[in-house]
Amino acid sequence: MNATDLLPNGLRLDEARAEARRTYELDRAHVFHSWSAQAEISPMTITASAGSYVWDGDGNRLLDFSSQLVNTNIGHQHPKVVAAIAAQAAKLCTIAPQHANDARSEAARLITSHTPDGLDKVFFTNAGADANEHAVRMARLHTGRYKVLTRYRSYHGGTDTAINMTGDPRRWPNDHANSGVVHFFGPFLYRSRFHAETEQQECERALAHLDEVVRMEGPSTIAAIVLESVPGTAGIMVPPPGYLAGVREICDRHGIVFIADEVMAGFGRTGRWFAFEHGDAVPDLITFAKGVNSGYVPLGGVVIDAEIAATFDHRPYPGGLTYSGHPLATAAAVATIRAMEDEHVVEHAATIGAEVIGPGLHDLAQRHRCIGEIRGAGVFWALELVADRDSREPLAPYGSSSPAMNETIAACKAGGLLPFANFNRIHVVPPCTVTADEVREGLAILDRALDVADGHL
Ligand code: PLP
Repeated sequence: MNATDLLPNGLRLDEARAEARRTYELDRAHVFHSWSAQAEISPMTITASAGSYVWDGDGNRLLDFSSQLVNTNIGHQHPKVVAAIAAQAAKLCTIAPQHANDARSEAARLITSHTPDGLDKVFFTNAGADANEHAVRMARLHTGRYKVLTRYRSYHGGTDTAINMTGDPRRWPNDHANSGVVHFFGPFLYRSRFHAETEQQECERALAHLDEVVRMEGPSTIAAIVLESVPGTAGIMVPPPGYLAGVREICDRHGIVFIADEVMAGFGRTGRWFAFEHGDAVPDLITFAKGVNSGYVPLGGVVIDAEIAATFDHRPYPGGLTYSGHPLATAAAVATIRAMEDEHVVEHAATIGAEVIGPGLHDLAQRHRCIGEIRGAGVFWALELVADRDSREPLAPYGSSSPAMNETIAACKAGGLLPFANFNRIHVVPPCTVTADEVREGLAILDRALDVADGHL
């Protein structure tokens, strides 16, 4: 790129570079970042984005295999969504939640047109964590119970109860006020806690374990079981057939509310509108965020089953948010969902996963000793990297990083790929709209980066 070339947002490269330098200085002086030791980070400045790509502060184009935080399901700067936000801003920017407004009503209608019958009401939040907070509050008020069961190896958000519910190491320093949350082991055959050798054994033993935890905690004290339908940040562990149906059966037997956290896996990521559709089970509450409007404006929510919604027909629901159903956010959701329908984005995610990403990753696994397992569906895949295939020792310890992982991630970036990495895993989570050529380009960069990991074995 020449200094006078234009980025997709119309900025000249030399202008973008100057702006990026200033942005970086201001960031380091004034911005306090999430989940980070502030003095040890060096955030990449992003100056532009379009489709499956972002541009850094030097004007380098990177293929976004992270979808940022796994939210840009429809790709960056989708013109219909950008136009809808601008049109809504011109029409009505903000309105208090007690009033009805067209964008919020239409977003609720569109969202529930993709959920099973009986799940017809939406409470809007600002993001995924507060969606989970409110789902738990609804379950507690509905059942009159207080305990909540969630799995180890899960992420449910950074707010108080949501971080308590989280079953990954980010909970540890935040666990001072554990609010009735009990963790259990979910199915994960590659690192089975149950000495299982087949998916079926893993499923049966994980369900027996959950049943035992329910008995030990006292069913009459348990308000909800909260599960990511496919745990995302913790490793994209697609549950074995029958697991979600088994959880549904345990909930039904004990009057426990089944909350499916679809914040990351929902809205097309697994090749279905919601990931629980892969299993034979319908939850009572569905929490969502990210993909609902691809994160263009912050939005989350809870889809509520009729019986739980009826609890609040003649009793006020004790909770609310100033920006619940914010017009700009819900207008973005309306445009996103319509575009996903019109452009068959969910079907595309299923096909590209089955025909291009899955086979491509399995091909990489043939050639790289560092790959212990490949798992996923749609545009939601994880590479489990190991120091030794036989012992399955992770390439970085649980809850931490390693030079081998850091160098592999750096090689991805140097090659023009922005990956999503966590501990010993690299996740391949591009937008649902990624093309076959883009996938091949990304896998070729990943192929070279994995040589770096192999070099450490
Ligand atoms: N639940 C799941 C499954 C998530 O992956 C996340 C975020 O990554 C959250 C909840 C929290 O969402 P937010 O960061 O929008 O609060």
